[in-house]
Amino acid sequence: MFGEEKSVGVAVLGLGNVGSEVVRIIEDSAEDLAARIGAPLALRGVGVRRVVADRGVPVELLTDNIEELVSRDDVDIVIEVMGPVEPARKAILSALENGKSVVTANKALLSVSTGELAQAAESAHVDLYFEAAVAGAIPVIRPLTQSLAGDTVLRVAGIVNGTTNYILSQMASTGVDYETALADASALGYAEADPTADVEGYDAAAKAAILASIAFHTRVTADDVYREGITKITPADFASAKALGCTIKLLSICERVTDDEGQQRVSARVYPALVPLKHPLAAVNGAFNAVVVEAKAAGRLMFYGQGAGGAPTASAVTGDLVMAARNRVMRSRGPRESRYAKLPVLPIGMVSTRYYVNMYVADEPGVLSLLAAEFAKRDVSIAEMRQEGVADEGGQRVAARIVVITHRATDAALSETVAALEGLDAVHRVASVLRLEGNSE
Ligand code: NAP
Repeated sequence: MFGEEKSVGVAVLGLGNVGSEVVRIIEDSAEDLAARIGAPLALRGVGVRRVVADRGVPVELLTDNIEELVSRDDVDIVIEVMGPVEPARKAILSALENGKSVVTANKALLSVSTGELAQAAESAHVDLYFEAAVAGAIPVIRPLTQSLAGDTVLRVAGIVNGTTNYILSQMASTGVDYETALADASALGYAEADPTADVEGYDAAAKAAILASIAFHTRVTADDVYREGITKITPADFASAKALGCTIKLLSICERVTDDEGQQRVSARVYPALVPLKHPLAAVNGAFNAVVVEAKAAGRLMFYGQGAGGAPTASAVTGDLVMAARNRVMRSRGPRESRYAKLPVLPIGMVSTRYYVNMYVADEPGVLSLLAAEFAKRDVSIAEMRQEGVADEGGQRVAARIVVITHRATDAALSETVAALEGLDAVHRVASVLRLEGNSE
Protein backbone atom coordinates (compact mmCIF):
# COMPACT_ATOMS: atom_id res chain seq x y z
CA MET A 1 0.00 0.00 0.00
CA PHE A 2 2.82 2.46 0.76
CA GLY A 3 5.21 1.49 -2.06
CA GLU A 4 8.21 -0.83 -1.83
CA GLU A 5 9.70 0.63 1.37
CA LYS A 6 6.35 0.98 3.20
CA SER A 7 6.87 4.69 3.01
CA VAL A 8 4.05 7.19 2.55
CA GLY A 9 4.31 8.65 -0.95
CA VAL A 10 3.79 12.42 -1.19
CA ALA A 11 3.21 14.65 -4.21
CA VAL A 12 3.44 18.42 -3.76
CA LEU A 13 1.62 20.62 -6.29
CA GLY A 14 3.31 24.04 -6.31
CA LEU A 15 6.83 25.11 -5.43
CA GLY A 16 6.24 28.77 -4.60
CA ASN A 17 6.27 30.56 -1.24
CA VAL A 18 4.46 27.73 0.53
CA GLY A 19 5.43 24.69 -1.56
CA SER A 20 9.17 25.31 -1.32
CA GLU A 21 8.90 25.54 2.50
CA VAL A 22 6.81 22.37 2.65
CA VAL A 23 9.44 20.49 0.64
CA ARG A 24 12.17 21.90 2.89
CA ILE A 25 10.40 20.73 6.07
CA ILE A 26 9.76 17.26 4.59
CA GLU A 27 13.47 16.95 3.81
CA ASP A 28 14.99 18.66 6.87
CA SER A 29 12.74 16.92 9.41
CA ALA A 30 12.54 13.54 7.66
CA GLU A 31 13.59 11.47 10.70
CA ASP A 32 11.32 13.24 13.17
CA LEU A 33 8.36 13.12 10.81
CA ALA A 34 8.93 9.39 10.19
CA ALA A 35 8.97 8.75 13.95
CA ARG A 36 5.77 10.76 14.45
CA ILE A 37 3.98 9.10 11.56
CA GLY A 38 5.27 5.57 12.04
CA ALA A 39 6.62 5.41 8.47
CA PRO A 40 8.95 7.57 6.39
CA LEU A 41 7.60 10.09 3.91
CA ALA A 42 8.84 9.76 0.32
CA LEU A 43 8.59 12.78 -1.96
CA ARG A 44 7.51 11.32 -5.32
CA GLY A 45 7.17 14.49 -7.33
CA VAL A 46 6.56 18.23 -7.37
CA GLY A 47 4.13 19.82 -9.79
CA VAL A 48 5.17 23.17 -11.29
CA ARG A 49 4.71 25.20 -14.48
CA ARG A 50 8.42 25.66 -15.19
CA VAL A 51 10.40 22.43 -15.14
CA VAL A 52 13.95 23.79 -14.89
CA ALA A 53 17.05 23.03 -12.82
CA ASP A 54 18.10 25.07 -9.76
CA ARG A 55 14.68 25.15 -8.13
CA GLY A 56 15.97 23.64 -4.88
CA VAL A 57 14.70 20.11 -5.60
CA PRO A 58 16.22 17.50 -7.96
CA VAL A 59 14.96 18.33 -11.45
CA GLU A 60 13.84 14.73 -11.99
CA LEU A 61 11.20 15.25 -9.26
CA LEU A 62 9.68 18.22 -11.11
CA THR A 63 6.82 17.79 -13.54
CA ASP A 64 4.27 19.96 -15.29
CA ASN A 65 2.01 16.94 -15.81
CA ILE A 66 -0.22 17.36 -12.75
CA GLU A 67 -2.79 14.81 -13.90
CA GLU A 68 -0.15 12.10 -14.18
CA LEU A 69 1.45 13.00 -10.82
CA VAL A 70 -1.79 12.87 -8.79
CA SER A 71 -2.75 9.46 -10.20
CA ARG A 72 0.59 7.68 -9.66
CA ASP A 73 0.28 4.40 -7.75
CA ASP A 74 3.16 5.29 -5.42
CA VAL A 75 1.53 8.56 -4.29
CA ASP A 76 -0.64 8.34 -1.14
CA ILE A 77 -1.03 12.01 -0.24
CA VAL A 78 -1.29 15.06 -2.52
CA ILE A 79 -0.44 18.48 -1.11
CA GLU A 80 -2.02 21.23 -3.20
CA VAL A 81 -0.27 24.58 -2.73
CA MET A 82 -0.44 26.00 -6.24
CA GLY A 83 -3.80 27.81 -6.33
CA PRO A 84 -5.88 29.44 -7.72
CA VAL A 85 -9.35 27.83 -8.04
CA GLU A 86 -8.45 26.20 -11.36
CA PRO A 87 -6.40 24.12 -12.05
CA ALA A 88 -6.32 23.27 -8.31
CA ARG A 89 -9.94 22.06 -8.24
CA LYS A 90 -9.43 19.66 -11.12
CA ALA A 91 -6.16 18.35 -9.63
CA ILE A 92 -7.68 17.80 -6.16
CA LEU A 93 -10.77 16.05 -7.52
CA SER A 94 -8.58 13.83 -9.64
CA ALA A 95 -6.34 13.01 -6.64
CA LEU A 96 -9.35 12.18 -4.43
CA GLU A 97 -10.95 10.05 -7.16
CA ASN A 98 -7.65 8.18 -7.39
CA GLY A 99 -7.81 7.41 -3.66
CA LYS A 100 -5.20 9.92 -2.47
CA SER A 101 -5.69 11.94 0.71
CA VAL A 102 -5.40 15.67 0.04
CA VAL A 103 -3.98 18.58 2.03
CA THR A 104 -4.68 22.05 0.64
CA ALA A 105 -4.14 25.70 1.61
CA ASN A 106 -6.46 26.96 -1.12
CA LYS A 107 -9.11 29.10 0.64
CA ALA A 108 -10.46 30.54 -2.62
CA LEU A 109 -11.25 27.03 -3.85
CA LEU A 110 -12.60 25.72 -0.53
CA SER A 111 -14.96 28.66 -0.13
CA VAL A 112 -16.71 27.84 -3.40
CA SER A 113 -16.26 24.07 -3.68
CA THR A 114 -16.18 22.58 -0.16
CA GLY A 115 -19.21 20.41 -0.80
CA GLU A 116 -17.88 18.97 -4.03
CA LEU A 117 -14.43 18.25 -2.57
CA ALA A 118 -15.80 16.85 0.70
CA GLN A 119 -18.15 14.58 -1.25
CA ALA A 120 -15.29 13.28 -3.39
CA ALA A 121 -13.19 12.59 -0.25
CA GLU A 122 -16.17 10.83 1.32
CA SER A 123 -16.77 8.62 -1.71
CA ALA A 124 -13.09 7.65 -1.86
CA HIS A 125 -12.82 7.13 1.96
CA VAL A 126 -9.79 9.43 2.14
CA ASP A 127 -8.88 12.59 4.07
CA LEU A 128 -9.25 16.22 3.03
CA TYR A 129 -7.37 18.57 5.36
CA PHE A 130 -7.11 22.37 5.07
CA GLU A 131 -5.75 23.90 8.29
CA ALA A 132 -3.58 26.36 6.30
CA ALA A 133 -6.54 27.78 4.38
CA VAL A 134 -7.53 30.05 7.29
CA ALA A 135 -5.07 32.20 9.24
CA GLY A 136 -1.83 30.52 8.05
CA ALA A 137 0.11 29.02 10.94
CA ILE A 138 -2.65 29.60 13.51
CA PRO A 139 -4.44 26.39 14.48
CA VAL A 140 -8.12 27.21 14.13
CA ILE A 141 -9.64 24.56 11.85
CA ARG A 142 -8.52 21.64 14.04
CA PRO A 143 -9.67 23.28 17.32
CA LEU A 144 -13.09 23.91 15.75
CA THR A 145 -13.50 20.47 14.17
CA GLN A 146 -11.92 18.39 16.93
CA SER A 147 -11.22 20.13 20.26
CA LEU A 148 -14.63 21.82 20.30
CA ALA A 149 -16.52 18.90 18.71
CA GLY A 150 -18.48 18.40 21.95
CA ASP A 151 -19.33 22.05 22.51
CA THR A 152 -21.70 24.50 20.80
CA VAL A 153 -19.86 27.28 18.98
CA LEU A 154 -21.71 30.58 19.23
CA ARG A 155 -19.39 32.99 17.45
CA VAL A 156 -16.12 33.04 15.54
CA ALA A 157 -14.79 36.54 14.91
CA GLY A 158 -11.38 37.47 13.73
CA ILE A 159 -8.82 39.34 11.74
CA VAL A 160 -7.92 36.85 9.05
CA ASN A 161 -6.32 39.04 6.39
CA GLY A 162 -2.82 40.33 7.13
CA THR A 163 -2.66 42.81 4.23
CA THR A 164 -5.68 44.80 5.32
CA ASN A 165 -4.70 44.59 8.97
CA TYR A 166 -1.31 46.04 8.07
CA ILE A 167 -2.95 48.90 6.11
CA LEU A 168 -5.45 49.71 8.89
CA SER A 169 -2.73 49.49 11.57
CA GLN A 170 -0.62 51.98 9.59
CA MET A 171 -3.57 54.36 9.22
CA ALA A 172 -4.27 54.11 12.96
CA SER A 173 -0.71 54.63 14.12
CA THR A 174 0.53 57.25 11.63
CA GLY A 175 -2.64 59.04 10.49
CA VAL A 176 -1.87 58.44 6.78
CA ASP A 177 -4.68 57.94 4.28
CA TYR A 178 -5.67 54.62 2.70
CA GLU A 179 -3.69 55.13 -0.56
CA THR A 180 -0.46 55.92 1.32
CA ALA A 181 -0.84 52.92 3.64
CA LEU A 182 -1.57 50.64 0.65
CA ALA A 183 1.55 51.89 -1.18
CA ASP A 184 3.56 51.20 1.97
CA ALA A 185 2.12 47.66 2.22
CA SER A 186 3.00 47.02 -1.44
CA ALA A 187 6.56 48.28 -0.98
CA LEU A 188 7.05 45.90 1.94
CA GLY A 189 5.59 42.93 0.03
CA TYR A 190 2.45 42.70 2.22
CA ALA A 191 0.13 43.58 -0.68
CA GLU A 192 -0.07 41.87 -4.08
CA ALA A 193 0.32 43.82 -7.34
CA ASP A 194 -3.48 43.55 -7.64
CA PRO A 195 -4.68 43.99 -4.04
CA THR A 196 -8.42 43.64 -4.85
CA ALA A 197 -8.93 40.23 -3.20
CA ASP A 198 -7.52 41.57 0.06
CA VAL A 199 -8.73 45.19 0.23
CA GLU A 200 -12.26 44.45 -1.03
CA GLY A 201 -12.63 41.67 1.55
CA TYR A 202 -12.90 38.69 -0.84
CA ASP A 203 -10.06 36.79 0.87
CA ALA A 204 -11.55 37.41 4.33
CA ALA A 205 -14.99 36.37 3.04
CA ALA A 206 -13.59 33.09 1.69
CA LYS A 207 -12.13 32.38 5.13
CA ALA A 208 -15.40 33.38 6.86
CA ALA A 209 -17.24 30.85 4.67
CA ILE A 210 -14.83 28.09 5.72
CA LEU A 211 -15.00 29.04 9.42
CA ALA A 212 -18.81 29.30 9.43
CA SER A 213 -19.15 25.92 7.70
CA ILE A 214 -17.11 24.06 10.27
CA ALA A 215 -18.22 26.04 13.35
CA PHE A 216 -21.93 25.59 12.63
CA HIS A 217 -21.99 22.19 10.85
CA THR A 218 -23.57 23.82 7.81
CA ARG A 219 -22.33 24.41 4.28
CA VAL A 220 -21.63 28.12 3.83
CA THR A 221 -20.06 29.40 0.60
CA ALA A 222 -18.35 32.71 -0.18
CA ASP A 223 -21.60 33.88 -1.87
CA ASP A 224 -23.41 33.56 1.48
CA VAL A 225 -20.98 35.97 3.15
CA TYR A 226 -21.88 39.68 3.24
CA ARG A 227 -18.75 41.65 2.32
CA GLU A 228 -17.42 45.19 2.45
CA GLY A 229 -13.77 46.21 1.95
CA ILE A 230 -11.60 48.89 3.52
CA THR A 231 -11.01 51.25 0.57
CA LYS A 232 -13.39 53.96 1.81
CA ILE A 233 -11.95 54.25 5.33
CA THR A 234 -10.56 57.74 5.94
CA PRO A 235 -8.25 59.37 8.50
CA ALA A 236 -11.40 61.18 9.77
CA ASP A 237 -12.94 57.78 10.60
CA PHE A 238 -9.84 56.87 12.58
CA ALA A 239 -9.96 60.21 14.40
CA SER A 240 -13.60 59.57 15.36
CA ALA A 241 -12.78 56.00 16.38
CA LYS A 242 -9.99 57.27 18.63
CA ALA A 243 -12.29 59.83 20.23
CA LEU A 244 -14.71 57.00 20.99
CA GLY A 245 -11.98 54.78 22.52
CA CYS A 246 -11.94 52.49 19.47
CA THR A 247 -9.86 51.52 16.47
CA ILE A 248 -10.95 50.16 13.07
CA LYS A 249 -10.39 46.54 12.00
CA LEU A 250 -11.56 44.43 9.06
CA LEU A 251 -13.49 41.68 10.82
CA SER A 252 -14.72 38.30 9.62
CA ILE A 253 -17.69 37.43 11.80
CA CYS A 254 -19.53 34.11 11.88
CA GLU A 255 -22.42 33.94 14.34
CA ARG A 256 -25.15 31.57 15.42
CA VAL A 257 -28.23 33.78 15.63
CA THR A 258 -31.76 32.97 16.82
CA ASP A 259 -34.27 34.93 14.72
CA ASP A 260 -37.64 36.37 15.82
CA GLU A 261 -39.38 33.04 15.14
CA GLY A 262 -36.88 31.13 17.29
CA GLN A 263 -35.15 29.62 14.25
CA GLN A 264 -31.37 29.28 14.53
CA ARG A 265 -29.50 30.80 11.62
CA VAL A 266 -25.93 31.48 10.55
CA SER A 267 -24.67 34.97 9.92
CA ALA A 268 -21.36 35.32 8.06
CA ARG A 269 -20.10 38.78 7.26
CA VAL A 270 -16.94 40.75 6.56
CA TYR A 271 -16.63 44.50 7.03
CA PRO A 272 -14.48 47.16 8.63
CA ALA A 273 -15.79 47.89 12.11
CA LEU A 274 -15.05 50.06 15.11
CA VAL A 275 -13.58 47.84 17.83
CA PRO A 276 -13.15 49.11 21.42
CA LEU A 277 -9.46 49.46 22.32
CA LYS A 278 -10.00 47.14 25.30
CA HIS A 279 -11.20 44.31 23.02
CA PRO A 280 -8.47 41.68 22.39
CA LEU A 281 -8.74 42.10 18.59
CA ALA A 282 -7.88 45.81 18.86
CA ALA A 283 -4.33 44.89 19.91
CA VAL A 284 -3.72 42.72 16.83
CA ASN A 285 -1.54 44.90 14.64
CA GLY A 286 0.57 44.72 11.49
CA ALA A 287 0.25 41.61 9.33
CA PHE A 288 -0.78 39.41 12.28
CA ASN A 289 -4.05 37.48 12.44
CA ALA A 290 -6.23 36.50 15.37
CA VAL A 291 -9.45 34.56 15.79
CA VAL A 292 -11.70 34.70 18.84
CA VAL A 293 -14.02 31.72 19.30
CA GLU A 294 -16.92 31.80 21.73
CA ALA A 295 -18.45 28.46 22.67
CA LYS A 296 -21.26 27.65 25.11
CA ALA A 297 -19.20 25.64 27.60
CA ALA A 298 -15.62 26.66 26.77
CA GLY A 299 -16.29 30.40 26.88
CA ARG A 300 -13.97 32.69 24.94
CA LEU A 301 -10.80 31.32 23.30
CA MET A 302 -8.31 33.37 21.33
CA PHE A 303 -5.87 32.21 18.67
CA TYR A 304 -3.16 34.61 17.54
CA GLY A 305 -0.11 34.47 15.27
CA GLN A 306 1.26 34.68 11.75
CA GLY A 307 -1.58 34.37 9.29
CA ALA A 308 0.51 34.09 6.12
CA GLY A 309 4.04 33.67 4.76
CA GLY A 310 5.77 30.66 3.30
CA ALA A 311 7.16 29.05 6.46
CA PRO A 312 4.19 29.70 8.82
CA THR A 313 1.74 28.41 6.22
CA ALA A 314 3.97 25.38 5.55
CA SER A 315 3.85 24.59 9.29
CA ALA A 316 0.07 24.17 9.09
CA VAL A 317 0.34 22.22 5.82
CA THR A 318 2.88 19.76 7.21
CA GLY A 319 0.78 19.36 10.37
CA ASP A 320 -2.05 18.20 8.11
CA LEU A 321 0.40 16.01 6.19
CA VAL A 322 1.40 14.22 9.40
CA MET A 323 -2.29 13.69 10.30
CA ALA A 324 -3.12 12.30 6.86
CA ALA A 325 0.01 10.10 6.83
CA ARG A 326 -0.74 8.70 10.31
CA ASN A 327 -4.26 7.87 9.19
CA ARG A 328 -2.83 6.03 6.17
CA VAL A 329 -0.46 4.04 8.37
CA MET A 330 -3.25 3.24 10.85
CA ARG A 331 -5.67 2.55 8.00
CA SER A 332 -8.08 5.07 9.53
CA ARG A 333 -9.54 8.44 8.59
CA GLY A 334 -9.76 11.87 10.15
CA PRO A 335 -13.01 13.76 10.74
CA ARG A 336 -15.38 14.05 7.79
CA GLU A 337 -17.28 17.13 6.76
CA SER A 338 -20.04 17.78 9.30
CA ARG A 339 -23.05 19.54 7.80
CA TYR A 340 -25.96 17.94 9.64
CA ALA A 341 -27.26 21.22 11.15
CA LYS A 342 -28.10 22.77 7.74
CA LEU A 343 -28.81 26.17 9.31
CA PRO A 344 -30.22 28.79 6.94
CA VAL A 345 -28.12 31.89 6.32
CA LEU A 346 -29.36 35.11 7.92
CA PRO A 347 -29.72 37.92 5.34
CA ILE A 348 -27.59 40.98 6.16
CA GLY A 349 -30.73 43.13 6.53
CA MET A 350 -31.72 41.10 9.60
CA VAL A 351 -28.30 41.32 11.27
CA SER A 352 -28.32 43.55 14.31
CA THR A 353 -25.29 45.59 15.38
CA ARG A 354 -24.45 49.06 16.62
CA TYR A 355 -23.51 51.75 14.09
CA TYR A 356 -21.32 54.78 13.70
CA VAL A 357 -22.67 57.31 11.16
CA ASN A 358 -20.48 60.23 10.12
CA MET A 359 -22.13 63.04 8.16
CA TYR A 360 -21.69 66.65 7.13
CA VAL A 361 -24.78 68.79 7.67
CA ALA A 362 -25.84 72.43 7.42
CA ASP A 363 -24.58 74.45 10.38
CA GLU A 364 -28.05 75.78 11.29
CA PRO A 365 -30.42 75.63 14.25
CA GLY A 366 -32.92 72.73 14.28
CA VAL A 367 -30.81 70.36 12.18
CA LEU A 368 -29.96 68.00 15.03
CA SER A 369 -33.63 67.39 15.85
CA LEU A 370 -34.33 66.78 12.14
CA LEU A 371 -31.63 64.13 12.08
CA ALA A 372 -32.78 62.54 15.34
CA ALA A 373 -36.34 62.28 13.97
CA GLU A 374 -35.18 60.20 10.97
CA PHE A 375 -33.46 57.72 13.30
CA ALA A 376 -36.50 57.56 15.63
CA LYS A 377 -38.95 56.97 12.73
CA ARG A 378 -37.19 53.68 11.98
CA ASP A 379 -36.68 52.58 15.59
CA VAL A 380 -32.97 53.20 15.45
CA SER A 381 -32.13 54.40 18.92
CA ILE A 382 -29.32 56.94 19.25
CA ALA A 383 -26.78 56.20 22.00
CA GLU A 384 -24.62 59.24 21.37
CA MET A 385 -24.58 62.25 19.02
CA ARG A 386 -21.48 64.40 18.70
CA GLN A 387 -20.78 67.56 16.81
CA GLU A 388 -17.11 67.17 16.08
CA GLY A 389 -16.07 70.74 15.39
CA VAL A 390 -17.20 72.75 12.41
CA ALA A 391 -15.87 71.73 9.04
CA ASP A 392 -14.42 74.39 6.81
CA GLU A 393 -15.68 73.90 3.28
CA GLY A 394 -13.93 76.31 0.87
CA GLY A 395 -12.93 78.68 3.67
CA GLN A 396 -16.53 79.21 4.86
CA ARG A 397 -18.21 77.83 7.99
CA VAL A 398 -21.07 76.09 6.25
CA ALA A 399 -21.07 72.54 7.54
CA ALA A 400 -20.98 70.76 10.86
CA ARG A 401 -19.59 67.26 11.16
CA ILE A 402 -21.99 65.07 13.09
CA VAL A 403 -21.14 61.63 14.43
CA VAL A 404 -23.98 59.40 15.63
CA ILE A 405 -23.52 56.16 17.55
CA THR A 406 -26.61 53.98 17.68
CA HIS A 407 -27.79 51.24 19.98
CA ARG A 408 -28.36 47.86 18.31
CA ALA A 409 -30.44 48.11 15.16
CA THR A 410 -30.97 45.91 12.13
CA ASP A 411 -28.98 46.57 9.01
CA ALA A 412 -32.23 47.10 7.09
CA ALA A 413 -33.43 49.82 9.51
CA LEU A 414 -30.06 51.54 9.46
CA SER A 415 -29.85 51.46 5.64
CA GLU A 416 -33.32 53.02 5.37
CA THR A 417 -32.32 55.70 7.87
CA VAL A 418 -29.17 56.55 5.92
CA ALA A 419 -31.16 56.77 2.66
CA ALA A 420 -33.62 59.14 4.35
CA LEU A 421 -30.80 61.27 5.80
CA GLU A 422 -29.21 61.55 2.36
CA GLY A 423 -32.52 62.87 1.04
CA LEU A 424 -32.64 65.78 3.53
CA ASP A 425 -31.64 69.24 2.24
CA ALA A 426 -29.80 69.89 5.52
CA VAL A 427 -27.53 66.87 5.02
CA HIS A 428 -24.61 67.65 2.69
CA ARG A 429 -23.40 64.05 2.67
CA VAL A 430 -23.25 60.91 4.77
CA ALA A 431 -19.49 60.38 4.63
CA SER A 432 -19.25 56.98 6.29
CA VAL A 433 -21.25 54.30 8.04
CA LEU A 434 -19.40 51.67 10.06
CA ARG A 435 -20.51 48.97 12.47
CA LEU A 436 -19.42 48.97 16.07
CA GLU A 437 -18.48 45.46 17.19
CA GLY A 438 -17.19 43.92 20.41
CA ASN A 439 -19.58 45.91 22.56
CA SER A 440 -22.96 44.49 23.51
CA GLU A 441 -24.94 47.66 24.45
P1 NAP B 1 3.03 31.00 -5.37
O1 NAP B 1 4.25 31.47 -4.66
O2 NAP B 1 2.47 31.84 -6.47
O3 NAP B 1 3.36 29.55 -5.96
C1 NAP B 1 2.49 28.85 -6.79
C2 NAP B 1 3.20 27.61 -7.28
O4 NAP B 1 2.25 26.81 -7.98
C3 NAP B 1 4.36 27.87 -8.22
O5 NAP B 1 5.42 27.02 -7.91
C4 NAP B 1 3.77 27.57 -9.60
O6 NAP B 1 4.71 27.00 -10.51
C5 NAP B 1 2.74 26.50 -9.28
N1 NAP B 1 1.66 26.52 -10.24
C6 NAP B 1 0.74 27.51 -10.40
N2 NAP B 1 -0.11 27.18 -11.40
C7 NAP B 1 0.29 25.97 -11.85
C8 NAP B 1 -0.16 25.12 -12.89
N3 NAP B 1 -1.20 25.45 -13.66
N4 NAP B 1 0.47 23.94 -13.08
C9 NAP B 1 1.54 23.61 -12.32
N5 NAP B 1 2.02 24.38 -11.33
C10 NAP B 1 1.40 25.55 -11.11
O7 NAP B 1 1.82 30.74 -4.36
P2 NAP B 1 1.92 30.58 -2.76
O8 NAP B 1 2.02 31.91 -2.13
O9 NAP B 1 2.92 29.54 -2.42
O10 NAP B 1 0.43 30.06 -2.42
C11 NAP B 1 0.05 28.75 -2.78
C12 NAP B 1 -1.36 28.46 -2.23
O11 NAP B 1 -1.35 28.58 -0.81
C13 NAP B 1 -2.47 29.40 -2.73
O12 NAP B 1 -3.65 28.67 -2.86
C14 NAP B 1 -2.59 30.39 -1.60
O13 NAP B 1 -3.89 30.97 -1.54
C15 NAP B 1 -2.35 29.50 -0.40
N6 NAP B 1 -1.86 30.22 0.77
C16 NAP B 1 -0.75 30.99 0.68
C17 NAP B 1 -0.30 31.68 1.78
C18 NAP B 1 0.94 32.54 1.71
O14 NAP B 1 1.26 33.18 2.71
N7 NAP B 1 1.64 32.59 0.61
C19 NAP B 1 -1.00 31.58 3.01
C20 NAP B 1 -2.13 30.76 3.09
C21 NAP B 1 -2.54 30.08 1.95
P3 NAP B 1 5.95 27.85 -11.09
O15 NAP B 1 6.83 28.10 -9.89
O16 NAP B 1 6.60 26.95 -12.07
O17 NAP B 1 5.36 29.09 -11.66
